Amino acid sequence: MDKLKFAVLPGDGIGPEVMAVALEVLARASEADGLTLEPVEADAGGIAIDRHGTALPEETLRICSESDAILFGSVGGPKWESLPPREQPERAALLPLRKHFSLFANLRPGLLYPELIDASPLKADRIPDGIDLVCIRELTGGLYFGQPKETRDLPGGDREAVDTMIYKKSEIELITDVAIATARSRKHRICSVDKANVLENSVLWRKTVTEYLAVHAPEIELTHMYVDNAAMQLARDPNQFDVILTENMFGDILSDEMAVICGSLGMLSSASLGTVENRHGHRFGLYEPAGGTAPDIAGKDLANPCAQVLSGAMMLRFSFGLEKLADRIEAAVRRTVVDGTRTGDIAFGGKSVGTREMGRAIANHL
Ligand code: NAD
Repeated sequence: MDKLKFAVLPGDGIGPEVMAVALEVLARASEADGLTLEPVEADAGGIAIDRHGTALPEETLRICSESDAILFGSVGGPKWESLPPREQPERAALLPLRKHFSLFANLRPGLLYPELIDASPLKADRIPDGIDLVCIRELTGGLYFGQPKETRDLPGGDREAVDTMIYKKSEIELITDVAIATARSRKHRICSVDKANVLENSVLWRKTVTEYLAVHAPEIELTHMYVDNAAMQLARDPNQFDVILTENMFGDILSDEMAVICGSLGMLSSASLGTVENRHGHRFGLYEPAGGTAPDIAGKDLANPCAQVLSGAMMLRFSFGLEKLADRIEAAVRRTVVDGTRTGDIAFGGKSVGTREMGRAIANHL
């Protein structure tokens, strides 16, 4: 394999701090395998607004288009909160990136090592072996993008707002395919989450997922659950799930619940994958931590870099097919965390070993 070329968009707040650690760990890990990384850095988010007057400059888009993947930090912060909603860093950088590259599948692992059970708000006896599940969320359809989407004045002075939830069968099949591939690499179980007792969309969702699995993956165990029940079951017994498959808004909410029960935002990575193949014959994707820019701890060497490092590992796995290298980085993160670095502390700004020191420890565990 020639150079691994990826765009690096550190963004704002803790983004650049945790990105520096991730790049160092990725470089050390790949060097040992004789691979050469070619990260190309570009501005996105608040920093891009300050430097170029727009959250997603043309130059950044060009660099991303010429790369095989995007490693993203996080964007936004108090400095840009007074901008009109459409110009806010997250909305004006991240959403257009997802749209531009048709990143329709969001994979969010919910992972809590057994050694860190105390970091979870759940009672230890509910999760004696920690937590290990994945949420596959459809990312480019449903209520967030359907048209019409507007607020209108009504005769008589009243107003109404409308959002449209819309899914095509083909869109549901595409995301189901990603869930199948994920389930095949895990415990072969998919729980499809919908609201088929109320929503037409969910009726089509359930029918399509059922028929698609019957034809393409009959060996996978498929169950269905209403979203309200799924929210309760996640808090009651998260390990009953292996792969959760769901639409955009339900996935948005459930994956945040997953982040909470796993104890630390600073540990959770994510991948957003598209249909496009990169030069290496793998999926082009955007990889980012689940958390935001954490303005409260930015610049203090307190941010937990694990989520960014683990996002880098996901990039190696999905966009470069380097499964073993990804496994090695994930194992190094786990050993670091288990070896006395109290993730709960570093994740929530208490006493801490420091971002950079944690990075060095991960690199030493490779
Ligand atoms: P946040 O995730 O930034 O912070 C929530 C809490 O978690 C804070 O106490 C923070 O210190 C802590 N935290 C988050 N990541 C951490 C890490 N790696 N290590 C240690 N602690 C960590 O969420 P917020 O406060 O709601 O948002 C802050 C800013 O980030 C806002 O401008 C928001 O728009 C932006 N944001 C961006 C993204 C993104 O770029 N994808 C996602 C969420 C929020």
